[in-house]
Amino acid sequence: NSIWANIKMGPPDPILGINEAFKKDSHPLKVNLGVGAFRDDNGKPKVLDCVRKAEKIISEKNLDKEYIPIVGLPQFNSEALKLAYGENSSALKEDRVAVTQTLSGTGALRIGGAFIERFLGKDTTVYVPGPTWGNHISVFKDCGLQPKEYRYYDKKTNGLDIAGLLEDLSSAKPGSVALLHGCAHNPTGVDPTFEQWKQILEVCKKNSIIPFFDVAYQGFASGDTNFDAQSLRLFVDSGVSIMLSQSFAKNMGLYGERVGTFSVVCASSEEKDRVLSQFKILIRPIYSSPPVNGARIAAEVLSNPELNKLWLTEVKGMADRIISMRSLLRKHLEEDCKSSLSWKHITDQIGMFCFTGISPEAVDRLKDEFHIYLTRNGRISMAGITTKNVRYVAESFHEVTK
Ligand code: PLP
Repeated sequence: NSIWANIKMGPPDPILGINEAFKKDSHPLKVNLGVGAFRDDNGKPKVLDCVRKAEKIISEKNLDKEYIPIVGLPQFNSEALKLAYGENSSALKEDRVAVTQTLSGTGALRIGGAFIERFLGKDTTVYVPGPTWGNHISVFKDCGLQPKEYRYYDKKTNGLDIAGLLEDLSSAKPGSVALLHGCAHNPTGVDPTFEQWKQILEVCKKNSIIPFFDVAYQGFASGDTNFDAQSLRLFVDSGVSIMLSQSFAKNMGLYGERVGTFSVVCASSEEKDRVLSQFKILIRPIYSSPPVNGARIAAEVLSNPELNKLWLTEVKGMADRIISMRSLLRKHLEEDCKSSLSWKHITDQIGMFCFTGISPEAVDRLKDEFHIYLTRNGRISMAGITTKNVRYVAESFHEVTK
């Protein structure tokens, strides 16, 4: 009798389940709108030229594969911080940002969760937007914290429920954490305007809410890395102590390399030293030290002026492809299919994902009758749409929403 005999079969991951079903479908027109990774206009994964060039430079250096420090590669960390906070950030100039390299964005959230649990306490409530990326809730729960939703998405307008958001954060218990998507909100594609970010900042300040920014799409949303960081920088420049999870999965296409950072903006350099010492104590028993390869690539791309220039062009290219697919999809629905519904939200929303407003029943019909795969909440990955399939996708959306 096995000691594991009573372990129950867990439910499959909803997104991976979609990929499985898609793979099994042999229909020639099938479309996968569930994937959370960039695809080119032929539906193929993309490795950026700047990354290939960085790999070549690194390989020619014949570097060793010794362990790197517990908190990661120093050059990568400092370049990553400059990208997020900005070259002229006073927090960086005053050397008061504690940073560690992490296993991409998920690892950053997890280390952040462990840091919160240890220093703010087990029962800390972490407010997350309703809805949010599903893994946020799992990560914070597994860190022993209490995730709770604040109002975010307004089904009636397919836009932001700013009044609900401000109300929920102003009635939250002081000392709670609020997870904020810095740009390109996943899954809704709905971001606050800069004016609304100012309102969110005021509420956080007034009610002593600690902002935890998740920036997984810097540059990937608008095509401009500075524009996509303006929410984060607004908070930091106002003197608020924030936490940040940063990922290079999407904007540098380094998905499987697992490259990211977790950082905490402190009040002084001396405080930063103490916080950093605790990062090391937290990380050492979890995985000792992070992997070296992806961090070397990102450090090369960020610090080599020629590669950096190329990267900014490539990031903009990815964002522009997504933005143009939004316009085309909306145009086909409104002008060619003559849908009587409004599809304005497709172009109002930003980033990899779009909340279409399509009902779960219509999602099932899309799969069964049209071989189009998406999550039942109506979220589509814009990266799955190409100039070749956009018309078919629009016509199918129209059929199931008539
Ligand atoms: N945060 C958000 C909002 C995301 O959408 C993702 C990826 O989909 C992540 C974090 C983390 O991704 P990764 O761990 O691959 O960096």
